[in-house]
Amino acid sequence: MPAPGELTFTAPRRAGATRPPRHLADLAPSERRAAVADLGHPAFRANQLSTHYFARLVDDPDQMTDVPAAVRAELAAQFLPRLATPVREITCDDGTTRKTVWRLFDGALVESVLMRYFGAVSGHAELGDEADDAPAATTRGRDRITVCVSSQAGCGMNCPFCATGQAGLTRNLSTGEIVEQIVAAARLVAGGEVPGGAGRVSNVVFMGMGEPLANYNAVIGAVRRLTDPSPHGLGISQRGITVSTVGLVPAIDKLATEGLNVTLAVSLHAPDDELRDTLVPINTRWKVAEVLDAAARYVAATKRRVSIEYALIRDINDQAWRADLLGQLLRATLGHLAHVNLIPLNPTPGSKWTASRAKDEKEFVRRLENQGVPVTVRDTRGREIDGACGQLAASIR
Ligand code: SAH
Repeated sequence: MPAPGELTFTAPRRAGATRPPRHLADLAPSERRAAVADLGHPAFRANQLSTHYFARLVDDPDQMTDVPAAVRAELAAQFLPRLATPVREITCDDGTTRKTVWRLFDGALVESVLMRYFGAVSGHAELGDEADDAPAATTRGRDRITVCVSSQAGCGMNCPFCATGQAGLTRNLSTGEIVEQIVAAARLVAGGEVPGGAGRVSNVVFMGMGEPLANYNAVIGAVRRLTDPSPHGLGISQRGITVSTVGLVPAIDKLATEGLNVTLAVSLHAPDDELRDTLVPINTRWKVAEVLDAAARYVAATKRRVSIEYALIRDINDQAWRADLLGQLLRATLGHLAHVNLIPLNPTPGSKWTASRAKDEKEFVRRLENQGVPVTVRDTRGREIDGACGQLAASIR
């Protein structure tokens, strides 16, 4: 267990630790062709494998009937190894919210959450709303299927109100291990196993376990696999992807240069350094002003609205003056291109904190709106299955 406030950027070395097996999803299309050719196969087999995996969502060699039977098993073993095995599935909301606990090749556990929304007017923001340019209230009335993915096993950022942070960082996931979570979800949805009929994953939010920008290369690789057109990737719109960060300033700046129009979400949680130093320990490295300036540079580069995540914690960060200060800061740095997502604090084991009173939440919203800052309150989807924000701790109890 990390000491309070302690940050971990690189996972501790473990004796005998090996890397996850190479997977098709780790490779860009040109690398796939080269790797297939290296094994003595015609390069077009790479396209066949891509079509099976990314377009048909198939990784079973028996179903690859366009590949000669004699080489199917070899190609599948080389490029489509089983990276993650589901060890537990828990659903709620009549099956439209589904948390999966995955065991990775080395026994590490991570979680992903699939959420289907039918566009009912709930009055609350849905995960994936971050990615919409229009205010949340006008984007309803359509089916949205969001997958919340993990980018690390555990997390080194140690935010005291988040269950993932409490156990520390086990290791970074590979691109393939990240992509597998979404492909598995896409398969369920395509197969009609999620109520609402067969469909497609429309949104992916990097809001599961881990700090995505601390595992930068693997996360960017995953974003490319998700957004590359089919069959090279899953063909999900870049605008449907949200990358959430505690505020790693150099990595935000790097993200702005990738040419990816993904939505950036910044977990702010306090407008003042004194409090944020304790709630989001990375603040001891990069201050509120530095993070918001980086967000502004991201907006300038991408023209995408930034989402500011703010967990409302009773009597800790929910005071009216903090709402006013937050509004002022956002107006000064991000103008109208900031959107505040308030998250009623979800309960986590051992935490003494709880969600704000309804009246304080309302006042917080009102004060932000008074300053013209768009604000939504996130729904608490998945709470009863410990699948909501900050509750992912991958136990298999
Ligand atoms: N490490 C990244 C990705 C995790 S996203 C980040 O921090 O942005 C998960 C979001 O849920 C973050 O905004 C996080 O601060 C928030 N969160 C963590 N614990 C929570 C809790 N108990 N209740 C509500 N939100 C929480």
